[in-house]
Amino acid sequence: MAFVLESKGLGKKDVPLIGGKGANLAELINAGFPVPEAFFITAQAYEEFAKYNELKEKILKIFKGIDYSDVNSLKTASEEIKKMIIESKVPEEVKDEIADAYKRLYGGPPIDIEFIKPMDMPFVAVRSSGIMEDIKSASSAGQYETFLNIKGEDNLISAVKKCWASLYTPRVIYYRNKNKQSQDTSISVVIQRMISSEKSGVVFTIDPTNPVKGSNKIVIEACWGLGETLVQGKVEPDRYYVDKETGDILEKHIGKKLIETVKNDYGITIERSVSRDKIDAQVLTDYEIVALAAYCKKIEQHYNFPEDIEWAVERGKIYIIQARAVTTLEEKETKKVEGEPILEGYGASPGVATGFVKIIKNLSELGKIQKGDILVTEMTSPDYVPVMEKSSAIVTDAGGTTCHAAIVSRELGIPCIVGTQKATEVLKEGMKITVDATHGKVYAGEVAIEEKKEEEVEIKTKTQIKVNLAFPETAEKAKHADGVGLLRLEHMLTTSGMHPIEYIRQGRGEELTKIIFDGVGKVAQVFYPKHVWVRSLDARTDEFRHMKGGENEPKEDNPMLGWHGIRRSLDEPEILKCELRALKQLYEKGLNNVVWELPFIINVSELRKAKEIAREMEVPDKFGIMVEVPACALTIEEFCKEGIVFASFGSNDLTQTTLGLDRNNERLINLFDEMHLSMQFLFKYVIDVCKKYGVESSICGELPSNRRDAVEFLVKAGIDSLSVNLDAIEKVREQVSEIEDQ
Ligand code: PEP
Ligand code: MG
Repeated sequence: MAFVLESKGLGKKDVPLIGGKGANLAELINAGFPVPEAFFITAQAYEEFAKYNELKEKILKIFKGIDYSDVNSLKTASEEIKKMIIESKVPEEVKDEIADAYKRLYGGPPIDIEFIKPMDMPFVAVRSSGIMEDIKSASSAGQYETFLNIKGEDNLISAVKKCWASLYTPRVIYYRNKNKQSQDTSISVVIQRMISSEKSGVVFTIDPTNPVKGSNKIVIEACWGLGETLVQGKVEPDRYYVDKETGDILEKHIGKKLIETVKNDYGITIERSVSRDKIDAQVLTDYEIVALAAYCKKIEQHYNFPEDIEWAVERGKIYIIQARAVTTLEEKETKKVEGEPILEGYGASPGVATGFVKIIKNLSELGKIQKGDILVTEMTSPDYVPVMEKSSAIVTDAGGTTCHAAIVSRELGIPCIVGTQKATEVLKEGMKITVDATHGKVYAGEVAIEEKKEEEVEIKTKTQIKVNLAFPETAEKAKHADGVGLLRLEHMLTTSGMHPIEYIRQGRGEELTKIIFDGVGKVAQVFYPKHVWVRSLDARTDEFRHMKGGENEPKEDNPMLGWHGIRRSLDEPEILKCELRALKQLYEKGLNNVVWELPFIINVSELRKAKEIAREMEVPDKFGIMVEVPACALTIEEFCKEGIVFASFGSNDLTQTTLGLDRNNERLINLFDEMHLSMQFLFKYVIDVCKKYGVESSICGELPSNRRDAVEFLVKAGIDSLSVNLDAIEKVREQVSEIEDQ
């Protein structure tokens, strides 16, 4: 009974031994294709491990008490089993066989040599390989774990245990039960030398958009770095078409590749902006296109079936990473779209909608928008909100992922594409279009685009997942979040069309207080007793210029860095006083779950002054602060000493102020890297200092809603909570759950 097998002699018949993924790879290696070296930890190894630790009996016992309809019961059972697997000892024979095979992988002899330190060992990918065909639904949804960039024997063994444990994630348990499969099952693991991909992608040996006519074409998609960004649809890849018979390149479409996933110098997989010269550059050389197509044609001939192949290029050499039969052509949702998009931009709020274009050039035209229309404009502002709610989709010329249109449409659940640069030119009034905001593309006419909807399993995490809100009406939909990590007041205060300061000028402060009391009160009630963090008004001088009274706003060259946030509130304390009066009334109503937070703060003296005003208003002088400027991040210890309830990264502004670039300038979007090394330093530093002082650390910018690598970084850095957009709660919760389980 072998616990570890090399590829020799193995092939597609060996699924029960080394799983589907393993069997496929072995088949390709033995057929002579350039597959990275690999070995296989058999299902027997898991069985031996389970027997040695008497796991099966214990696991079945846990399953007896499970309530499949209760997510917490699923989660508890999953955690208990996974913990048991992770903490169990791997039998020596199994461990030795794995260690020997690992040494052989890099050419070392299977004996201990002291001077080979873990540092010198190769990076490997550790991939779960399901052995039961009926687990297809789960494995195709990426349920079983894969760990990249693993190095050293101890890390390898612990990654293997994590793969074994991934047999029992809440989602897999749920699927198995739903499909009436036994929970007593097994798993194999593939260990493969890690490729440092400079480029990677997928190949279809048939055109999936047109399987009949396209059977003589090979379609290659390519991106920079690792393939994750492409597979997850985060990047617009290059697409090349090759004639299967002659090997000639038929067509080349060069995509705009804005991001790439790469291994950084510390061996951590990160997502980053692509350097300017590579964004529009052709990823594969013509020679590589032809060579890759030739390999893929051979693979199709080998299997005698159209194949879906993953590949990578390392130091100029092409590798085949994986191949599987193309059986589900119809499931490739994006491939169904016929025709080329007429406009592209950044998908800021996902979803698909078809409707008629209404172009808004100035505010007086807002009345044109009828329910279901597609709002096309240079950029939205708070005045647009009522018509945004009526629109089925929004497309703007300007803006990045943190602009007004992006933030509001996400909360309202409206598909939105920003930063197209030319929507108001290319799209014509009354034209029927389909907006695919999931992929940032606009098509002429009505186009059928299916959206993939995953079944959700709600999960609790140690790191709290809060929500960002601006509209009290959406609170109800968000109440499964662990609190509100940012309640923006700007939208609440401007629905009447009057600038908040105009209320003060007219001596109508009471009305302002009532609006805040009503709006915040609604949210606080829905979430009670979970915390609601309300951000003090943070309007830039240009944002509300069109409101009544806004014409008196001072003109500033750089409103983003101008008179807003706490600096303005202290100059004109009347609005802050109205806010705190509302807070007092909320407390009197028993809604003591509300805490106010101070935006754009840079000096402890500003905090001190705000506290004085609070005491004057007879409310607790307890505030949270937004960390939005390096000046604040780097002096966070002083704020902690002065006393704050929490510190929340406003990563939209913190990126702007740290990298020195305008967050709303669509030309700079590829430089707007919220995970720039400088940002990572600031995040880690602030989190560590907050921990020392028992201050809750959090983040409420767009970052965790958009980037898994950021979620991973922040959770591993020890952040207490992440506040995300309404549509991202489940996704981020699941990501955090996975990260915490690792
Ligand atoms: C931020 O800057 O990250 C933030 C949450 O505030 P706003 O986007 O409203 O400036
Ligand atoms: Mg901000």
